[in-house]
Amino acid sequence: MIEIFTFVFIFILGVIIGSFLNVVIYRFNTGKKITKGKSMCMTCGKSLHWNELIPMFSFLFQFGRCRGCRAKISYQYPLVEFFTGVIFTLIAYHLYPILEISTINFVVLLSIFLFIFSILIIICVYDFRHKIIPDSLVYTYIIISFLLIFINTTGVGSFFVIPSIWGVLAGPMLALPFALIWYFSSGKWMGFGDAKLMLGIGWMLGLNMGIVALMISFWIGGIFGIFALIFKRFTKVNSKTEIPFAPFLILGTLIVFLFNINIYKLLSIF
Ligand SMILES: [Zn+2]
Repeated sequence: MIEIFTFVFIFILGVIIGSFLNVVIYRFNTGKKITKGKSMCMTCGKSLHWNELIPMFSFLFQFGRCRGCRAKISYQYPLVEFFTGVIFTLIAYHLYPILEISTINFVVLLSIFLFIFSILIIICVYDFRHKIIPDSLVYTYIIISFLLIFINTTGVGSFFVIPSIWGVLAGPMLALPFALIWYFSSGKWMGFGDAKLMLGIGWMLGLNMGIVALMISFWIGGIFGIFALIFKRFTKVNSKTEIPFAPFLILGTLIVFLFNINIYKLLSIF
């Protein structure tokens, strides 16, 4: 019973954080302070009442429209809130066995990974919308991922560890191909932001799981690309459309992280 309450609590926490991530995504390059200023309708400027600020529910009860001017509110808001809740819950579920070993390890590791995936969610949505990865976000991710190689994320044994040489090399080894593609295609096939993101993913997942995350990202990206071309009347995608790659990398990273998929596990499927 306590387990269910824990997960419900984590889900609600995720939805609330997701609502904050929306604000960060919106205000990121507008020069507005993230913590300052009242929330308002982006069309008519009406200040939002408290009951228009309840994550997910306000959107549903207002049928996706502003109460003042009836302008449509972007689906991004409830979607980011909902999926942040889902992702937070899945991360807590994934780390839950650590709670039996050590409460403090569980709380610390959970906080670290909730923070990391919050940054990745912002990068994902931001890259999807603006086709660019903000430096400050990806550098924060890189630094945390690098520090993570000194932490034992299994929860068993000592909290700090001396990283293996492969653990240290995983980041640069996975980022290098992306950097080369970026360089030789003059940024046409791959943005340099993707190489930076890969540096963090390599350090976070290690070489083995990092490669799997990359493979899964390409598969998902490929499937998405095919469907987008089939339904191009609706998606307005053609062979020249620049498709942001970070969302796929982040989705692949999330899948590999949640299911602990390494190369042997992946090969055993076939
Ligand atoms: Zn309005």
